[in-house]
Amino acid sequence: MISLSLLLVYTILGKDKLIRNTVRGDTNRGGGQYDPENNILTFDPLVGVEHINDDQMGKNISDQKGNGKATSPASIFLHEAGHFLNYRNDYEGSSVLFEIEDKLFTNLEERRVIRDVENPFAAKKSGNGESPRTNHGGIPSTFSSPTSTKPTGVTPAIRRQIAVEKAIKEAIKGNKN
Ligand SMILES: [Zn+2]
Repeated sequence: MISLSLLLVYTILGKDKLIRNTVRGDTNRGGGQYDPENNILTFDPLVGVEHINDDQMGKNISDQKGNGKATSPASIFLHEAGHFLNYRNDYEGSSVLFEIEDKLFTNLEERRVIRDVENPFAAKKSGNGESPRTNHGGIPSTFSSPTSTKPTGVTPAIRRQIAVEKAIKEAIKGNKN
């Protein structure tokens, strides 16, 4: 089932060949990404994020605790489309915002997209379980459908990263003993 909002995004994108041509599926289960230099929006329709509280920002992924709230894969797609439109409307301005670091939102371009695109959508779709994010963090997770807000687990890439971090921790502990 595709939500009305996702259909709307497809409709907007469909009007513009430039945009339509840059959307591609992600085969690495990595989730959404927008590359302004090459004009490519990549996303996986079954990968979204479980949110983390602000105090988890900056921690290693293996130490982060999800807070049970989530952003659906559809909303992540909307997020990346937000970057796309920002760069398309004002490439220089968006590039400047991208370079300005922000503790909770990574940079000001991420903050703009989360506050102006992602969170208003989440507020509208709260009945579907969407929640606004208070930071740019989150644990990339798998979902059973594009509009689901119930994560079924972390992505394979994140599972590997967690395993590596834990192995490093154990190795360091071993050296101390
Ligand atoms: Zn982003």
